[in-house]
Amino acid sequence: MISVEQASQIISENTQLTDKSIDINLIYALSYVLFEDVHSPINMPPFRQSAMDGYALHLHDAKTYSLVGEIKAGDAHQLHLKPGDAVRIFTGAPVPDSANAVVIQEKTSSQNHTLRIESNVVKNENIRPIGEQVLEGHIDLKKGVKLTAAAIAYLTTLGITQVKVYKKPSIAIVVTGNELVKAGNNLQYGQIYESNAIMLISALKQAGYSNISTHIVSDHYEKTLQVLKEVIHENDVILVSGGISVGDYDFVGKALEELEVIEHFYKVNQKPGKPLFFGKKDHKIIFALPGNPAASLSCFYIYVIAAIEKLSGNFNFKLNRVKAVSKSDFIKKGDRAQFLKAIYNDGKVEILEGQNSSMLHTFALANALVYVSDKHESININDEVEVILLPIN
Ligand code: AMP
Ligand code: MG
Repeated sequence: MISVEQASQIISENTQLTDKSIDINLIYALSYVLFEDVHSPINMPPFRQSAMDGYALHLHDAKTYSLVGEIKAGDAHQLHLKPGDAVRIFTGAPVPDSANAVVIQEKTSSQNHTLRIESNVVKNENIRPIGEQVLEGHIDLKKGVKLTAAAIAYLTTLGITQVKVYKKPSIAIVVTGNELVKAGNNLQYGQIYESNAIMLISALKQAGYSNISTHIVSDHYEKTLQVLKEVIHENDVILVSGGISVGDYDFVGKALEELEVIEHFYKVNQKPGKPLFFGKKDHKIIFALPGNPAASLSCFYIYVIAAIEKLSGNFNFKLNRVKAVSKSDFIKKGDRAQFLKAIYNDGKVEILEGQNSSMLHTFALANALVYVSDKHESININDEVEVILLPIN
């Protein structure tokens, strides 16, 4: 059985970034990844800009200046200042070419048309020079940058309205299991509520993916085969939930084989999530996730999200990992690597009670997974452990 590290490696090697791009208005561009470097069409700031409310000065040797006017943000007039002249100026207003410092109003006093400076003024202070953030023609943001609110706003400050981004994949979620019932209905004996679809959809949405379809299929070979055939044909990424174990009614593996999906691995030496499958058909990637909800979500965060990010252009994506001091003991049984649901805060981490792969309750409280590799033994209080921070807020 392959290790966690080998599994990540195999997924990474077999996930190619898409060569498809779209032009998108910035208003819709959140969490898309830039397909090409963006060059600034203007200098930013486009004019010498006052950084403070105060007075623009043409410096001279004395502490007193003659007040000759006022410039507020948006004003377009150029005032000419002789040495010893000052103008009232406000944040964001254009500083006249003849001024060489802005002194903040708190460091001045004025009477009639005379301004007195009560501190030392350094040449060019409080003036944002032309192109301080970026010069016209220079690269603003590079290909591969995932667009955040700040990035979108920054591009907008340059007057950009549209960018070329990597096309995001279309994702199909296929949920298997005869026992599953949609929440809102009554449970019959032997049934449970289906929760993996909404879990995966929510996790995908949080990462910025919304082109998702959901398909429910019973534990029936022909039906599984039919649904998988259709979704593989129509989507870039297929996430199957359940039906990948070794039970007599787990038909996903057999159906994928029949559909000539190339198996890159099946089963990883980890807990939870041992029966994880990763395969490909042409450029389409297929994960079959174990049905147990906590196992399914662990596999999503550890493997699936990185693959989807890579497909979508975010090739340097990695979940944040930190070292932390454990506040808990943990007795490890067996030689599988473990992902333990935990709460991380300020350099310390608490491993939660209830690590069973069916237990979403613990996951609902967790903001991190403690990673115990296959080579590591049990954890004692105050041991330093490796923590994977979940991308949940
Ligand atoms: P499986 O991987 O199909 O053998 O399922 C393992 C366990 O996870 C079983 O107890 C299932 O009832 C449960 N399970 C499978 N799929 C789901 C789902 N979509 N929502 C909630 N529980 C599930
Ligand atoms: Mg099942």
